[in-house]
Amino acid sequence: MVALVETWDDPRRRAGADEARRLVPRTDVVLADPRLVTAQQRLGRDLVKDAVSRAQEAARAGRIPPGAVADAAVAGLPARSTTLIPVINATGVLLHTNLGRAPLSAAARDALQAAAGCTDVEFDLSVGARGRRGRGTLAALAAAVPAAEAVAVVNNNAAAVVLAATSLASGKEIVVSRGELIEIGDGFRLPDLLESTGARLREVGTTNRTTAADYRDAIGPDTAFLLKVHTSNYRIEGFTAETTIAELAGLGVPVVADIGSGLLAPNAVLPDEPDADSALRAGANLVTASGDKLLGGPQAGLLLGSGELVRRLTRHPLARALRVDKLTLAALEATLAGPLAPVAAALTADANSLKQRAERMASQLAALGIDARAQTTQAAVGGGGAPGVTLPSAAISLPPELAAVLRAGEPVRRGDAIAVVGRVASGRLLLDLRAVPAQDDELISAAVIAAASG
Ligand SMILES: *Cc1c(COP(=O)(O)O)cnc(C)c1O
Repeated sequence: MVALVETWDDPRRRAGADEARRLVPRTDVVLADPRLVTAQQRLGRDLVKDAVSRAQEAARAGRIPPGAVADAAVAGLPARSTTLIPVINATGVLLHTNLGRAPLSAAARDALQAAAGCTDVEFDLSVGARGRRGRGTLAALAAAVPAAEAVAVVNNNAAAVVLAATSLASGKEIVVSRGELIEIGDGFRLPDLLESTGARLREVGTTNRTTAADYRDAIGPDTAFLLKVHTSNYRIEGFTAETTIAELAGLGVPVVADIGSGLLAPNAVLPDEPDADSALRAGANLVTASGDKLLGGPQAGLLLGSGELVRRLTRHPLARALRVDKLTLAALEATLAGPLAPVAAALTADANSLKQRAERMASQLAALGIDARAQTTQAAVGGGGAPGVTLPSAAISLPPELAAVLRAGEPVRRGDAIAVVGRVASGRLLLDLRAVPAQDDELISAAVIAAASG
C-alpha cells in the first residue's frame, strides 16, 4: 500500500511516463506502416485500428517503448476478421456440439472455398438459364441412400422435423411414444418444436414401454403420421419395449422416422445406431436426419423418403425459409461424394495406434521436463449419436493448470491462435486423441510446450 503511494508521488517516474506518452506515435502515422496498410486490405480498417490502439495503450503504460508501437500492432493483429477461433477437439467427444460438431473433410473445405464466390448453385451453365438449386448435392444424397425415392436438404434436422410437421400435420395429430419425447439440448424440446407448428401430439405408451398396439389404438381420422424418434442422447434400460418401424409401417398411416444422427447406411462400429437406408427399407415413408453428426458434414437437415411426401414438403411455403445456402450445399456434396469424413475416421481409429501416438507425445514432452504421461481413456460419440457407446482411446495426461492456458490458444502460432480443448478428470488435464487427426499431434505438442513454459 505504502509503496503504491510512493510510486504515484515519485516526480521522476511521472515525468518519465509523461515523456513516454508524448512520444507515442499518432494513430494515422502507425496505420501508414506498409504492413498495416496490407493488413487493412485483408482485415478491414476497424480490426487493424483496434490492434494499433492496444499497442499505443501498452506504450502509454510503459510496457513497450514508444518506438515499438507499429511492431506490437502487427504482432497483435487477429489472424482473420472473424472472432471464431479454430479449436483442436481433444475432449474425447467426437461430436462436440459446443465445438461446432463435425469437422469438415479437406474435400468439403475445398468445396466451400470454390462455392464462396458466385457459383452455378441455381443456374444451368449449358443453357444459360435458371437450373434446379443444389442438383449435384441432391443427386449425391440420392445415390448414397438408394432406398429414398426423393431427397431434400434444409437448414438442420430441427428444420426438417418442423417442415414435416407443418406441411403434413398442421391442425392434425402426430402419434408419438412417451419414451421418445426428447430434449435435444440447450433447453430445446422436440415436443415443443412439433406443437409450435400447430400439430397436436398424441402421446402413447409409457416412458419405458410402448407397443405397436398403443400406436394402432391412437390412430383416428385426425392422424397425420406416426413419429418414431431415435433417443439419440439417452438410453432407457431395464423393463422396456420399443416398437420397430416395420411394425408401425403396417398400420395404414405414414411413418416418419427422426433418426437424428445421420448415418445413411449401417455402420459396423455402431450396430445399434439407426440409419436412413434401413429405416426406409423397413417401411418408413420419411426419414429426417442431421448433416453434421455421424455423416460428418456441414450443419444441415436431410429429408429422405417417398416422392409424394418429399414433394409436399418442398412445395410448402415454409421450405423457402428453411432452405440451405450454397456453402452448405457445396460442403454436403463433397462430404457425400468425397473421401472419408474426419468423424468416420475418428470412429474407426485403431485404439493401439492412438495409444502409440499418446506415448510418443508424452515421452517427448516429459523429456523437456513437462509432467506428461500417456493414459488409456474412453471416448464418446456425443452430439446426439450413439448414447452409452464408449470407444477405447488414449490421452496425454497433464497438470490441470494447463487447461486454461491451452484454451486461450495464443502461444501456438503467432497471430493465428488455435485453442486446444481437453477435459479435466481426477485432477489431471486429459488431451484425448480419438477426435484428433494425427497431423495435429505436432500442433498439440507445440501448444503444450508453449503453455508449460509461459
Ligand atoms: C440432433 C437431433 C435433432 C436436432 O438436429 P439438429 O440438426 O441439431 O437440428 C433432432 N432429433 C434427433 C433425434 C436428434 O438426434
